[in-house]
Amino acid sequence: MSDTSTRVLSLEDELLELLGPASVSTEPRVRERASIDGSPMSPIIAAKLPLGLADLVVFAADAEQIATAVAAASRHGVPITVRGKGTGNYGQGIPMQGGLVIDTTRAKAIVEVGDGFITAEAGTPMVMLEQAAWASGQALWMYPSTAQSTIGGFLSGGSGGTGSIEHGSNDRGFVAALDVVHADGSAEIHHVEGDEAQKYVHNYGTAGVIVRATVRLEPLREWRGLWASFPDFGGTLSVVQTIGNLDPSPRLVSGDGPEISASLPADEAIPEGRSSLRVILDATQVDTVTAIIEGAGGRVEAVREGPQASIRLSMLSYNHPIEWYQKSQEHEVFHLEVAGAPLADDIEAVESVFAGGKLHIESTKAFPIGMLAAPYVSEEDVYRGIAELNAIGVGVHNPHQWNVDFNVEQTAETAALTDPNGLLNPGKLNPDYTGARKGAIIS
Ligand SMILES: Cc1cc2nc3c(=O)[nH]c(=O)nc-3n(C[C@H](O)[C@H](O)[C@H](O)COP(=O)(O)OP(=O)(O)OC[C@H]3O[C@@H](n4cnc5c(N)ncnc54)[C@H](O)[C@@H]3O)c2cc1C
Repeated sequence: MSDTSTRVLSLEDELLELLGPASVSTEPRVRERASIDGSPMSPIIAAKLPLGLADLVVFAADAEQIATAVAAASRHGVPITVRGKGTGNYGQGIPMQGGLVIDTTRAKAIVEVGDGFITAEAGTPMVMLEQAAWASGQALWMYPSTAQSTIGGFLSGGSGGTGSIEHGSNDRGFVAALDVVHADGSAEIHHVEGDEAQKYVHNYGTAGVIVRATVRLEPLREWRGLWASFPDFGGTLSVVQTIGNLDPSPRLVSGDGPEISASLPADEAIPEGRSSLRVILDATQVDTVTAIIEGAGGRVEAVREGPQASIRLSMLSYNHPIEWYQKSQEHEVFHLEVAGAPLADDIEAVESVFAGGKLHIESTKAFPIGMLAAPYVSEEDVYRGIAELNAIGVGVHNPHQWNVDFNVEQTAETAALTDPNGLLNPGKLNPDYTGARKGAIIS
């Protein structure tokens, strides 16, 4: 028996004793399910799957059990990959060196809702945080379009979503404090705030494991979901930034051309053959936005109230329209995350970089961002296109690789202290990786 197998077996024994048999599994199907994420969205990563298989899976019921599992695996020298809902779409949740996967989805509890903040355990779904915030007359600063994903996964693997027009990405003050565990053999939970807490954000759990998070809330507004349509994408593009720059900021402004719009779930507010524009905005702005839309040749299809309307509209933003579009096509489709003024000002130049290119657009205050989808030809063609997009002033984030590409140097410095044996999500933190983001996804 190899040294690794022996270490995994003794870890299994210890975890069975510490957490009980209902929380530990070596069933092949459980191990397989714990070793996939949303990366099949990328034909480049999909061609390389499977990239790793968990040896052992633990379902931690709370922050303390997550800490217990991290400490035990560290003592046994077994790699540790933490998992939320597994929706990360770059392969960043795949246990590339096997070992232990800690599934946090049972660790879902709201710990405290205060004035301007909410604290929850790592596996709590974002939608549960939002509901608890609404019940207190507040709302999250932001949540991703994958509203069922976990707070630990969103902070470690995501960047923004509904609310990001006002608040930017999730590394800009959204996190007030974190409780984290290091891979040093101890189950001690470290409470970190401010800049110290930022060191654990958006690096795929390679610097430490988040067991609890405190994030910012703002006073709840009378939000409305507004669905509009235009005869063509040009109409939508002409108003995206005007609406995104209104004060108070809308929570979301998403738009698609007729082809991507046609692939979205059937809704009378998304009429066939037209370009769809979807906005979450303050009730006081409905008349202003209606006038902007009608002035540009569009029409308002529906204005809907309540939390469900907001969540529904959020789930048609960011990567979701691309996922629907992929499903509707017979050929393989890839996408890139893109940003910059040309998205709204020169759509022809942007879409024509790839044959059959189609853009999904979102507004931020500074400039539009989006996802550029096209039929997949080859990896070389994708990299040729990235260079061409950069040349016309479009920032690109490459979602076809799993290296930590945000604050890499700082993460490596932190991990040298918090993960001295390189056990945390191995394969993701490569200080030599040179493809760091060439343009922020969200300004
Ligand atoms: C269709 C689609 C739409 C998407 N839309 C958005 C969007 O609008 N905005 C956005 O930002 N992202 C988006 N994503 C990416 C992803 O869904 C989100 O980032 C999501 O919040 C990740 O949460 P999760 O619980 O699924 O995390 P997982 O996928 O389980 O994990 C993500 C990463 O974080 C690590 N991790 C998980 N939990 C912890 C923890 N407690 N401590 C340390 N590390 C941890 C994992 O190891 C992994 O590296 C989208 C993905 C898809 C497929």
